[in-house]
Amino acid sequence: MPKYAVHTIVMEKTAEKLSATGQSAKADLLVAHRDIAAVGAIGPDLFFWAPDYTISQTFLTLFDAWDSLVRIYNESIISDIVEAMESIKEAADNVLEATLGPSYELIRHLVGEFKETAELFEQTVKYGALAAAVGVDNLVANMSDLPSATHRIFDVFKPPLQDGKSEKDWYWFDMLHYRYAGDFAGNLLASAVTPEQKTYAYAYMTHIATDLIGHGYVNQIVGGPYRTQVQRHVVMENFLDTWALAHYQGKDISRELVGYLNFPESLPGSVVDLLDTAFVNTYDGKAHPRILGGDGFLSKSQIEDTYRLFTRITKLLENKIEKPEEPFSDVLRILEEALEDFTAPPSPPNPWEGDCDFWDFLALGFTERSRECYRKAAEAIAEFFEYLGELLEWTFESIAKIFQFLLALPLAATVAVVLALLYAIQLSLYKILTTLRDFLALSGILYPSIGMVYTGHGRNLLIPCFCNACDSFPHTYYGGNCLECPGSELELPRTVPSWYVCASEGAADESQVRAMMETAITQFIETKPLNLGALEAYAGATSPQETRNLYTSLGGGGPVPPPTSLPGATGQQPGAAPNEIGSAVELANWMIANPDNPVALTNWNLDSDRGYAYKQWTGELPGTDIADEAYL
Ligand SMILES: [Zn+2]
Ligand SMILES: [Zn+2]
Repeated sequence: MPKYAVHTIVMEKTAEKLSATGQSAKADLLVAHRDIAAVGAIGPDLFFWAPDYTISQTFLTLFDAWDSLVRIYNESIISDIVEAMESIKEAADNVLEATLGPSYELIRHLVGEFKETAELFEQTVKYGALAAAVGVDNLVANMSDLPSATHRIFDVFKPPLQDGKSEKDWYWFDMLHYRYAGDFAGNLLASAVTPEQKTYAYAYMTHIATDLIGHGYVNQIVGGPYRTQVQRHVVMENFLDTWALAHYQGKDISRELVGYLNFPESLPGSVVDLLDTAFVNTYDGKAHPRILGGDGFLSKSQIEDTYRLFTRITKLLENKIEKPEEPFSDVLRILEEALEDFTAPPSPPNPWEGDCDFWDFLALGFTERSRECYRKAAEAIAEFFEYLGELLEWTFESIAKIFQFLLALPLAATVAVVLALLYAIQLSLYKILTTLRDFLALSGILYPSIGMVYTGHGRNLLIPCFCNACDSFPHTYYGGNCLECPGSELELPRTVPSWYVCASEGAADESQVRAMMETAITQFIETKPLNLGALEAYAGATSPQETRNLYTSLGGGGPVPPPTSLPGATGQQPGAAPNEIGSAVELANWMIANPDNPVALTNWNLDSDRGYAYKQWTGELPGTDIADEAYL
């Protein structure tokens, strides 16, 4: 679920940048050991699958259930039917003219078999492992429960910090993001001796840079940090990953993610040793997780197990749903004639008042109306899901009717009609599966298709315009569905997630919205110039209040970034925003080039979970007013 693609892309771009800025020895390591570098770029997120985080098993169950459903479809609905179609075609000399006559019994027998397969598939979709994993009785009939059922799943992942628990009850996954993240990276670097170890340590720094910069972007759109908006955070980052892999690599996440990431089969022993040493050197003697018992630390074999589970999960994230192929060239015309008497699908709901309709809701363009329609529709999302559930039910019913029709065909009917109808069944089941994938993507369970990214959903999840959360951040814990902007309650004192601006306040058509998406996302990934003055100032802040003061004092200081003594300052690019640090690639490049500079090893809060450039902090949670907020 996390943004593995974006982290790996930033790491690769950082390697390019390093090589272009006189750091080719380090760049060469990242390139030569690209597989280990990819694991390093995933950094602390690997430990989402660590044995202390037992709740992550929920996702394993979900991914497994989805994977087996796709497998049943690809095998019995695609491969088997195609094979049978071939034998039917062979039996008839000329598909378009041949009648059923001679092969009537064979065809009836095959159709009867497919009917059973399709019915089994329907039962599996409705009542199988996926429904059980989501927590509903019937996935199709209970579709309107999906937003709240999945919200409950994600709610369990709320970090213990949010419930005011102390570090001993935290997971290592949270610890590595919220406590001594910079020291941990520094310890990786300090103990790295072999080329593999150095590669891992440098790549790990790209994760820190990407989280620090990227979470500002994510949080601005989400309206709150991960700890208060887990599901919305994840759904947004999944959309981001799909977009980024398509944009930077021209790859389809549903079938090319694993090949692109190219993680090693197992984690090299030298990297396991390195992690083990860094854990102890960073956290021994400090308050740290104790869930695992004993000294609380992961053993080396537990680190290896974590990696094994992680690569297994990554393979499950990729799911190619085979699209059926036309059995012969004129199939659509034949199909149209054969399906003349079938009923039309149910029409979409219009639960929101006024002149919004279903298509406004999904449209990618940007008008005051589309924005308002989306907001209303997101509030009424259960109705949208219910409609889609009806559409799925209708599709299953239509398939049953097509089977009835097929089994009642007279001897004089043509083979072409049979093939066309079998194809229609395949197409309908394909549609069912891709629609299901889209629902699950809107709930943060699966990666969305690129088509889904280019809808109103993608627009509102990827461009920081919809919620305008930058004016009011962070929102407190929110129990609504993940497509809605969080409610109005704010954590105090208020902070700022980041300052990405919406390129257009006025109307924008589809191509303009696509361009806005590209501009905004590439800004945080690679195009925003580095501002070392801001970096130094944020790194040196001694209290949260000082960080908050920096937003305004730097922002109010005119277009000139503050002066700095940091190395590389002369190479600072013009145009840097005074109060922002710059892009993830620029920051990662500087950190790797200057690993001995203490600023490169700042203990940032990697979720920016109180606001932009916050460092590791402590304070009384939960609550609206954060009491005793302080940097550690
Ligand atoms: Zn992370
Ligand atoms: Zn995140």
